Amino acid sequence: MKKITKIGGHKIYQADLFIAKTVCTYDVPFIAAVKRRFFKTHIIVNKCFLELSEELKEAAYAHELGHIELGHVDDLSKNGSEGLIIISELELAADRYAVKRVSPGSLIALLSTIEGYYTELSIPVLGLEERYSALNQMKIRSVTSLATEIRSGTS
Ligand SMILES: [Zn+2]
Repeated sequence: MKKITKIGGHKIYQADLFIAKTVCTYDVPFIAAVKRRFFKTHIIVNKCFLELSEELKEAAYAHELGHIELGHVDDLSKNGSEGLIIISELELAADRYAVKRVSPGSLIALLSTIEGYYTELSIPVLGLEERYSALNQMKIRSVTSLATEIRSGTS
């Protein structure tokens, strides 16, 4: 694994082979916070993820840091790749954590990009409408209209 950077004291590694073997193809951007035996909790990404813009990467790092700080990360050595289950409550909590560090616009842009990549794959992604509306409920400036703008390419 190649160390890329650090966020909130947690290392971020590029782990293309592990990700391709356990969760998804090389062709979509992937990031996850994981715990494996003998390693402290850390974040793994693949090459495709690293090709995203800095803005999108920062938003993704902030979201994953949320999972770590909020104690969502299970030990993969106990659970195997099933430790990477997507639970909507946890995703929403990580989003709420992320918007304390990055702008809601960046987070929405990230979600929107992910949606584009994942729609055609059978990888379970939390419904984005649910995530947009949760962000909106935080009374952050009109996130819904921001989302519409970004998705229609007018911003
Ligand atoms: Zn998440």
